[in-house]
Amino acid sequence: MKRRQFLNAAAAIPLLPGAELWQLAAARADDGDAKQVFSRVRPGDAAWPSEESWNKLGRAVEGRLIKVDSPLSACREAPESPACHEVFKALRNPYYIGDHVGLTQTSGWVGAWTSRPSVYAVAARKTDDVVAAVNFARENKLRLVVKGGGHSYQGTSCAADSLLVWTREMNAISLHEAFVGRGCEEAQPPQPAVSVGAGALWLAAYEAVTTRGGRYVQGGGCTTVGVAGLIQSGGFGSFSKKYGLAAAGLLEAEVVTADGVARIANACTNPDLFWGLKGGGGGSLGIVTRLTLRTRELPQFFGAVVGTIRAPSETAFRELIARAVSFYADRLLNAHWGEQMRFGPGNKLEISMVFQGLNQRQAEEVWKPFREWLAASPRDFTVEPPLRIVTLPARIFWSAAFMKMIAPGAVVADDRPHAPAGNVYWADTGGEVGHVLYAYRSAWLPVSLLREKERPRLVEALFESTRHWGMSLHFNKGLAGAPAEEIAAARDTATNPAVLDAFALAICGAEGPPAFPGVKGHEPNLNAAGRAASAVTKSMDKLLEVVDEAGSYVSESDFFEPQWRRSFWGSNYPRLAAVKKKYDPDGLFTVHHGVGSEEWSADGFTRLGPG
Ligand SMILES: Cc1cc2nc3c(=O)[nH]c(=O)nc-3n(C[C@H](O)[C@H](O)[C@H](O)COP(=O)(O)OP(=O)(O)OC[C@H]3O[C@@H](n4cnc5c(N)ncnc54)[C@H](O)[C@@H]3O)c2cc1C
Repeated sequence: MKRRQFLNAAAAIPLLPGAELWQLAAARADDGDAKQVFSRVRPGDAAWPSEESWNKLGRAVEGRLIKVDSPLSACREAPESPACHEVFKALRNPYYIGDHVGLTQTSGWVGAWTSRPSVYAVAARKTDDVVAAVNFARENKLRLVVKGGGHSYQGTSCAADSLLVWTREMNAISLHEAFVGRGCEEAQPPQPAVSVGAGALWLAAYEAVTTRGGRYVQGGGCTTVGVAGLIQSGGFGSFSKKYGLAAAGLLEAEVVTADGVARIANACTNPDLFWGLKGGGGGSLGIVTRLTLRTRELPQFFGAVVGTIRAPSETAFRELIARAVSFYADRLLNAHWGEQMRFGPGNKLEISMVFQGLNQRQAEEVWKPFREWLAASPRDFTVEPPLRIVTLPARIFWSAAFMKMIAPGAVVADDRPHAPAGNVYWADTGGEVGHVLYAYRSAWLPVSLLREKERPRLVEALFESTRHWGMSLHFNKGLAGAPAEEIAAARDTATNPAVLDAFALAICGAEGPPAFPGVKGHEPNLNAAGRAASAVTKSMDKLLEVVDEAGSYVSESDFFEPQWRRSFWGSNYPRLAAVKKKYDPDGLFTVHHGVGSEEWSADGFTRLGPG
């Protein structure tokens, strides 16, 4: 391809989805113009670092360089062996996965990606290890990838033929009574905070801040999600309607940028980088080594409302959806209430809501009209299991010991011999452990849909969507109804401003058990995947008939999202792209549908812009 043709093609690049970009790159490379193409180095290439170079890196990181192997290798050789059987059993334990350098919490996504280990990994313990790895990758033109909790649905924390920085052991946590960011001495009052190593899991942060410290930090709902990945996603927890976006609670980060410099980013020092880290998406701007997050007063109580309601007919189900939507709009759209209602096929509504700042009597009072309405129509609806409201002291909500004692069905313990007693995860996230995704889509629903005039359209769209697949409304992942100061804080992040006036994030997805292509007897079920993907698409398309240009949550979204820049960041994208250009002009940090990834082939190895 001639240079002029190439420039014309390059101008069109942002409009093309990833796979087409990859073909375009390949075409260019075939076209004799290869010297203009910047490609990263793979094993077997002449420029792949020598054994001695790797050894030198190993010495620089004090022996923490690992030649990566995957437990799946045993399976590829002997898929029916007891050893392989054990591996697939263990793939249902998120702590087993999290402790393995070669695994990720999502095993793959049919038609999109499969989890593949890196060639080498630096199991970083300190910032200098990360600096050494970043410099080595840049100087040797390697594909660099970062993994914390390993929960990416998009496969952005793994890449074949790459060098991995694995932050698992950077998990120190310390509490501050009066934290002031570096350079912010004149600008900000001291405030209570917690500093967390980038590889820490949220449960460890909650254990330190809430169980032991009696305070609150805004993080994620899933206990095994990594702190750094979630903050860079924007991040929502069950109580985000009260405490806002997790990223908005970030006070300071230490981050190693592509030039190998460890920088402080806060509101006063490198504020542009700071803003980009808050919701700009993990793995795109640098490697975060430490985060400091504000902590708040802990409310006295947390609680939950759970139950399932079945309607005997489509007419009754429409009525149930209408009543649930009105009840939500009138009584629950405020800082007390979060989590989900799932409208399912089979005319079923599953309620799993949580609340904060209310006691048992107050919560019962809120739900009284809805329960009375249900009781008044006993022939229409079956409520099984019955609606239960439970309240517990907020301080024990994340205490593994208490949860195992008082709600043994709600948590699952790490079942490995000698596992730390505190390793638990919520039972209702168990289906996601090691899963293979068949489809996943999300959309922020504007609060205007709850206006009385608009509600019938929303109800009909929800009803229609359930004719194809289940649709969950995650109320805590939209900020409408949150306190004004939390909405203002979220506005000062890179997250799509659509979150600010969304009452919920609608999520529709499908998955199967752990599976890997090429491992006989453990391969993804392509038929089931195809059917589910088609149903999920139809279901979400029905709901989107009532939303114009819906935004989507970067970390819980469709791998194939064609409008990903608008969808994930909306009007913030140009500013985020400028931060990327400033701190990583050569694209060392490239992930699928991350900021600036439009300049790279789908596998992140070939630069599509002028070299
Ligand atoms: C079971 C499950 C439950 C979830 N629940 C929630 C939830 O309740 N709320 C919510 O908001 N989201 C939730 N998510 C989404 C989750 O927040 C994101 O996927 C998040 O990015 C995961 O972070 P991680 O460190 O665990 O994952 P990883 O896969 O390790 O990382 C995710 C991304 O961040 C990058 N990254 C990781 N560490 C660093 C670092 N130190 N520096 C720079 N980049 C880094 C990775 O390269 C990757 O691109 C959930 C996901 C799963 C699978």
